[in-house]
Amino acid sequence: MLIYLDYNATTPLRPEAQEAMLEVMAAPANPSSVHTLGRKAKQRLEEAREVIARAVSAFPNEVIFTASGTEANNLALRSFAGHALLVSSIEHASVFRTAQRLGGDFLPVDEHGVLKLDVLKDRLTALAGKPALVSVMLANNETGVIQPIAEIAKLVKEHGGLLHCDAVQAIGKIPVDMGLLGVDMLTISAHKCGGPVGVGALIVRQGVEVKPQQTGGGQEQGRRAGTENIAAIVGFAKALELAANYHDMARVRPMIDKIEQEILAFASDAVIASHAVSRLPNTTQIIMPNIPSETQLMTFDLEGLAVSAGSACSSGRIEPSHVLRAMGMPDSLAGCAIRVSLGWGSKEADVMKFIEVWKKTYQRLAQQNEKRRAAG
Ligand code: PLP
Repeated sequence: MLIYLDYNATTPLRPEAQEAMLEVMAAPANPSSVHTLGRKAKQRLEEAREVIARAVSAFPNEVIFTASGTEANNLALRSFAGHALLVSSIEHASVFRTAQRLGGDFLPVDEHGVLKLDVLKDRLTALAGKPALVSVMLANNETGVIQPIAEIAKLVKEHGGLLHCDAVQAIGKIPVDMGLLGVDMLTISAHKCGGPVGVGALIVRQGVEVKPQQTGGGQEQGRRAGTENIAAIVGFAKALELAANYHDMARVRPMIDKIEQEILAFASDAVIASHAVSRLPNTTQIIMPNIPSETQLMTFDLEGLAVSAGSACSSGRIEPSHVLRAMGMPDSLAGCAIRVSLGWGSKEADVMKFIEVWKKTYQRLAQQNEKRRAAG
């Protein structure tokens, strides 16, 4: 049996979400149809919208369903293509690459991976009143670092700008309140909190107008054309409702602490990325120096453990993570990171197995390296 320790990539579907989805899928469901089945679908859609709005303290009509977090991020950024765009240098590719396309400017983070607020302030001041869209994620997918979004929002407001926040990794793991955060647009996605892959939402504060990115029907109040994926949306609402009591996160936090304590006590040269700052309760990124992420991943896989590299995987090659690079970490360390992320199905025994395999791997690969060095 594979031990799954990669919840930040995607979570297993919560059984309750699956059950709710199967029920919806048993009958045709297009909420735009006028007949009884259509009206039933519409009712389910609006109930799910209410649950999701409530989970982030928004109004139901502020929720725009999309087919992914990626699509929601694109909708947010592309809607304001005329604005000066400022994004953090540790964003997920769906913001990072979109910002590159749109000619955005990248904001630095400090060595812990936290946005440099003084630089943001200077950049906003330098715009001298030109409207700005700032996009900063709430929690990072690799390190789990939580950004000071409320403080960022205050600065952005003082300069008359708009703030978008990618909360895909935060939703269901830490409380997300649109009002308290002070953001204008918020992205969430179902498959990071126990819901299905292929549904997300952009939540847009009343008074902020997004520009639809595709032409078609008038769904989602004309803001996102395309028949809503009712089964997935219902699964999303169910999963989020269950995640939002944070019981699972309270359960996994000590497991993450255990991993970090055991590894740091065992290997004096091991590094935990962003150890000193506030992070998600389920995420740890561990650097085993001198052992490339790829080698570690293959070893863990052979031992039946699914973890992830703290890196982007393109055409089979793992590049050192742009997040760790942005934090000033040299490639020699950044290229040796793996990420463990836990969730609703994680068990103490999974974590103990991971710790055991990590220690074994460290010793074996370190010895191999040593032999190779000695052999010249
Ligand atoms: N934003 C962050 C921070 C993510 O981690 C991810 C997925 O890994 C996304 C956005 C994209 O979400 P989706 O997979 O729903 O497109």
